[in-house]
Amino acid sequence: MPEYDIIIIGAGASAAAAALQLSEMGKKPMVIDVGLVPLRQIEDQKNLYTLKKTRDCTSFLVGDSLEYFNAKKQVLPAKLKSPYFQYVTDDPRFFNVRQTNYNAITSYAKGGLGVAWGNGLMRFSDEDFENFPIDFEDVLPFYKKLEAHIGISGTNDDLSPYFGNVENLQEPLKLSKNSQKIWNYYSKHRSHIQEKHISLGRPRIGVSANAYGKRERCQYDNLEFWQPDHTSLYTPVMTLQELVLHDKIVYKSGFFVDRWKEKEGKIEVIAYELASKQEHRFETQKIIIAAGVVNTARIVLKSREDHKTKLKLTDNPALQFPFFFPGSFGKSLEEDSFGLTQLSMIYKSKILDKKVIGAFVEVTSPMRSEFFDKFPFPASDNLNFMKYILPGMMASQIFLPSDPEIYAELSLTQANDVDIVGTGHAIPQPLVHEAVNVLRSLGLLTLEGFAYRVSHGNGIHYGGALPMSLNPASAYETTIEGELPENKNVYIADGSTFNGIPATNYSLTLMANAMRIAKACGMS
Ligand SMILES: Cc1cc2nc3c(=O)[nH]c(=O)nc-3n(C[C@H](O)[C@H](O)[C@H](O)COP(=O)(O)OP(=O)(O)OC[C@H]3O[C@@H](n4cnc5c(N)ncnc54)[C@H](O)[C@@H]3O)c2cc1C
Repeated sequence: MPEYDIIIIGAGASAAAAALQLSEMGKKPMVIDVGLVPLRQIEDQKNLYTLKKTRDCTSFLVGDSLEYFNAKKQVLPAKLKSPYFQYVTDDPRFFNVRQTNYNAITSYAKGGLGVAWGNGLMRFSDEDFENFPIDFEDVLPFYKKLEAHIGISGTNDDLSPYFGNVENLQEPLKLSKNSQKIWNYYSKHRSHIQEKHISLGRPRIGVSANAYGKRERCQYDNLEFWQPDHTSLYTPVMTLQELVLHDKIVYKSGFFVDRWKEKEGKIEVIAYELASKQEHRFETQKIIIAAGVVNTARIVLKSREDHKTKLKLTDNPALQFPFFFPGSFGKSLEEDSFGLTQLSMIYKSKILDKKVIGAFVEVTSPMRSEFFDKFPFPASDNLNFMKYILPGMMASQIFLPSDPEIYAELSLTQANDVDIVGTGHAIPQPLVHEAVNVLRSLGLLTLEGFAYRVSHGNGIHYGGALPMSLNPASAYETTIEGELPENKNVYIADGSTFNGIPATNYSLTLMANAMRIAKACGMS
């Protein structure tokens, strides 16, 4: 008998959820992971602005060797450039990723990209499952388990028709002063705004006003961009730690999985130890691959020694806009607000005939240099202008659904590197125009010229490489239980199986679906 019944590859959100489900079924899987961890933490978790006044913060703000600015050469969201978060996208370089017109972000961290996420954890609606062979009811039991496990805050409000009427939501966070202004405007003009098919509400996030389980209450310390393993933000690491503590999983970090091999009714997982680069083989009955879409695709192509197939890679196109409250220009900056999403917005795009989702975020936590080059003045004037303008500025992050016609192609080169070729497609101007009109309907001051189009692949919600199908027609489609039809007992449990990426942030569904697949794997 092999040593392990089930091996899970990866330790991000998908893998942690699969492990949680299997542990509930009395299974004890081995979770194998590269598993990079933060090298440093900010010792005293005070408020960012108190720290700035009382001590030298160079090390965590820009890095002792100005790492923040080096990272800027890559196209990375602000949080991933932050010195103490840079480990999340460090790469042990067992292979290269060649990218043309695409900017996929991969992680080899314990907890994966989820250690740096914005914590937006909401359900898909029926509409979001439109292109999937499964529907809302198939994942509902797992949504419920995850919501209880994580403790998601929010209220049942105008966004409930989209995010679901969830029982036991945790108390939402206090709004920043500027967000309160948006909320007041919306409350006053609600029926008129809703006639335009625009709704506003509290976000569903894995952080709350009160403590939940081992997670502390929100600190309003603006350290969200700087402090990995922040005690008040849920990350998949919390789930892994709990499972290890209760002896429900074996967690093996420090191993890069290269491929699997079927051998006499068993499966061998072939991995390289990071420290020694030595090859190790682990025997198991079944594997669940949840290494993030790019890595999962590579493991599958490598195991099949397939250097020809081009897999589809799809993700959300996204837009960012700053918007302004001139009445707050020159006032003092609110230093104890929550530095991530304050409010969520949904509107129906007439152009796409689909739902679009926006998050309104505070700009008190990220580095000021993120906005520095957006102003047209000389450097010293820009700095002064920013000081003046920042108390009256927020930003919106708008996600559009993926377009089935626009995708990148991922293949394995002869040298076993990954090659990704995108289209360089940019969001067309009419959609930017539409988004600006929506923001203006909410009383927000912004301009089309401020729009920043997130580059292709930087939406960070990847999918489509190994889509689910009721009747898989190729070796690269999975069954609806996530199993590869030509490789019995090999299951795919991350975004690879998603048939499209709707506008709704997909990580809660990613996790719920991973649990659904893990259940099928554990039962078969
Ligand atoms: C700044 C930022 C903000 C975000 N905000 C949100 C949000 O608000 N809401 C939302 O829904 N989503 C958000 N996301 C996206 C979300 O974080 C990801 O979609 C999600 O975490 C993906 O999880 P995953 O487990 O599928 O993959 P990953 O997070 O990529 O995890 C992959 C795991 O596999 C391991 N691994 C990879 N390759 C190998 C290998 N060969 N051998 C062994 N182990 C391997 C890695 O170590 C890692 O543990 C955000 C992402 C970022 C970066």
